[in-house]
Amino acid sequence: MGESVHGPGDAGGLVLVLNSGSSSVKFAVLAPASGERVLAGMAGQVGTPEAELQVRRYPGRVVTEQLPEGSYEAVISRILGHLPEAGLNAAGDGPAGPGRARLAGAGHRVVHGGERFTASVLVDDEVIAAIRSFSRLAPLHNPSNLDGIEAVRAVRPGLPQVAVFDTAFHHTMAPRAFRYAVPEEWYTRYGVRRYGFHGTSHRFVAERAAALLGRPLAELRLVTAHLGNGCSAAAVRDGRSVDTTMGLTPLEGLVMGTRSGDVDPGLIGYLARRSGLTADEITDALNNESGLAALSGRGNDMRAITAAAAAGDERSRLALDVFVHRLCRAIAGLVASLGRLDALVFTGGIGENSAEIRSRALHRLGFLGLAEDPVANASHGRGTGGRVSLPGPVQALVVPTDEELMIARDTARVIAGD
Ligand code: ADP
Repeated sequence: MGESVHGPGDAGGLVLVLNSGSSSVKFAVLAPASGERVLAGMAGQVGTPEAELQVRRYPGRVVTEQLPEGSYEAVISRILGHLPEAGLNAAGDGPAGPGRARLAGAGHRVVHGGERFTASVLVDDEVIAAIRSFSRLAPLHNPSNLDGIEAVRAVRPGLPQVAVFDTAFHHTMAPRAFRYAVPEEWYTRYGVRRYGFHGTSHRFVAERAAALLGRPLAELRLVTAHLGNGCSAAAVRDGRSVDTTMGLTPLEGLVMGTRSGDVDPGLIGYLARRSGLTADEITDALNNESGLAALSGRGNDMRAITAAAAAGDERSRLALDVFVHRLCRAIAGLVASLGRLDALVFTGGIGENSAEIRSRALHRLGFLGLAEDPVANASHGRGTGGRVSLPGPVQALVVPTDEELMIARDTARVIAGD
């Protein structure tokens, strides 16, 4: 990332990466080989007359534009409208001209690929229908992801598009890791199993960690901890996911910003009887009103919670205690799935930036052979090739994730037919 050398992938053109949500679209236009950004930004309030687009053209400032039409198509049109200018502007550190600014394709983050999609795929009518069929499993995400795909089709009909699935990396989990002990028909008829999410990030940081460790990914056993607003950890053996903390939905597993993570499923019936809330209302609260926000009573921002805990706020201290406790329990469980640990990888907004959470986790996990290097950890591993542990057979690393770059690379590769 950030290198100004243009590798062969750039010759194939730039990639538009889209993460289309229910009311927002995050995007980047980048060179897949170098990771160099040409454009990046976000559209908010999509689908309303208040829609606005924030665009950063590299190198340059963020500009905000109103989009009264507000549709996904209007957003995509406007993003693409920036491209010719941006391509020329970005020529300061490399050759200008049509090759640089050519858009080779669009890569979409798609949350749920069900059991079918085990890798990134070129989008066609049949793929769209399959993604739609998995909307039942991800009703908050897949329909918006498809809105983005349809909008690009409408605005640039001939542009190749690639779907990159959050679930795909975890398709290598064995049945013992992905099956729930529930009635068989729930699995065969309704697809109730563990799928796992954040796969693009786990895959990216696992590859990067191997490079930083100077060892082949094919012989490493890693636990990757993606700790952002959503949090999940994965057991990656020889480059393949063998276990992960998220399940049928992204609600399972670790404590997150507003998601509870694991709870006793018995609480749904109990609360329904006691409170009169419906199953949907309880699930909504577990997704949106729980987690760090519920425990701390101060919202889901880890920075604010850490600061409040340091100032003596009891609820914030409890929120951190529960977060770290559950994280460590999950990591140790994933090591059981691996049989051996070579490195623990921290990523995501919390994993990359919170020296305190990492420090507490590493102390709790000392029995696995991990020991914090306090100086390296305080500087987030910046001067030590990502390493935040003392040198030894089991390492802890900070590896900044870059899901957009992974999506761009997959898109270029799939379009090239590799
Ligand atoms: P998302 O999952 O939405 O992509 P991020 O990966 O950006 O989110 O992570 C957001 C989380 O990272 C928030 O809890 C935020 O408070 C936390 N975070 C960001 N910067 C810091 C920091 N310097 N110290 C501690 N936590 C941080």
